[in-house]
Amino acid sequence: MVNVITATWKELDAYVDSLLPFDRPLELLAEKPFTTKEIDELLASGCLVRFSAHLWEGQGLTFKTKKNNLELRYILLNYLSSPYDRDKILFHECAHIKYNICFDIKDKNIEAKVEWIGRQWRADPTLLKHLIHSFELKPYIYDKASYQAFASSSPEGNQLLFPFEKNNILETFMD
Ligand SMILES: [Zn+2]
Repeated sequence: MVNVITATWKELDAYVDSLLPFDRPLELLAEKPFTTKEIDELLASGCLVRFSAHLWEGQGLTFKTKKNNLELRYILLNYLSSPYDRDKILFHECAHIKYNICFDIKDKNIEAKVEWIGRQWRADPTLLKHLIHSFELKPYIYDKASYQAFASSSPEGNQLLFPFEKNNILETFMD
């Protein structure tokens, strides 16, 4: 078992790999990845992203509720999360939504599996850009996938301010 919040990709991949030969649902999900159309459908179904201070660091949550007879789905994120964690958790929750629609949620390895799936979806610049723009979240650049997703539309143009360099902005010049 791995800690899905702190596991490196290598650790998570090795763990899920050990489960894979016997996991047809996971194989199916890997064969049929998340699409921009599904993101549109999620949005059209009334899914909203909100931030909460009542979640542990690295934790997200998804739940359904009814308002005026309308079914709404919320994805809650910790507002203190780093940019990478915010996006990672957002895709983790999307993987829960897709996984739970398709498969048995009593699976004891579900957290590792949805994390494994969600991290792969997040690393796809097309999906990352579409999801962040669809939910009107602030785009952040912190790795190659997020650079490919957002660099061309960044208001900073060619002068990009990376989150890890924020504290050094007065001493660092990037071009
Ligand atoms: Zn989860």
